[in-house]
Amino acid sequence: MRQDFPEGNAIDPETGFPLCALCERPVPPNAKQSLHHLVPKLRGGKGGPVVLVHQICGLR
Ligand SMILES: [Zn+2]
Repeated sequence: MRQDFPEGNAIDPETGFPLCALCERPVPPNAKQSLHHLVPKLRGGKGGPVVLVHQICGLR
């Protein structure tokens, strides 16, 4: 089955949801989500690896 989230995310074994890379809690499909760049854009991270995070977590 195709996965709709980045490879860098762990999966919560109980819910099957990807875990937020910042708070390590599950990100349900209906939650507001964001993609967090692992490499800062200023260092050439644009287009680089990203991980799924809650939108509120990614705003920091
Ligand atoms: Zn989070």
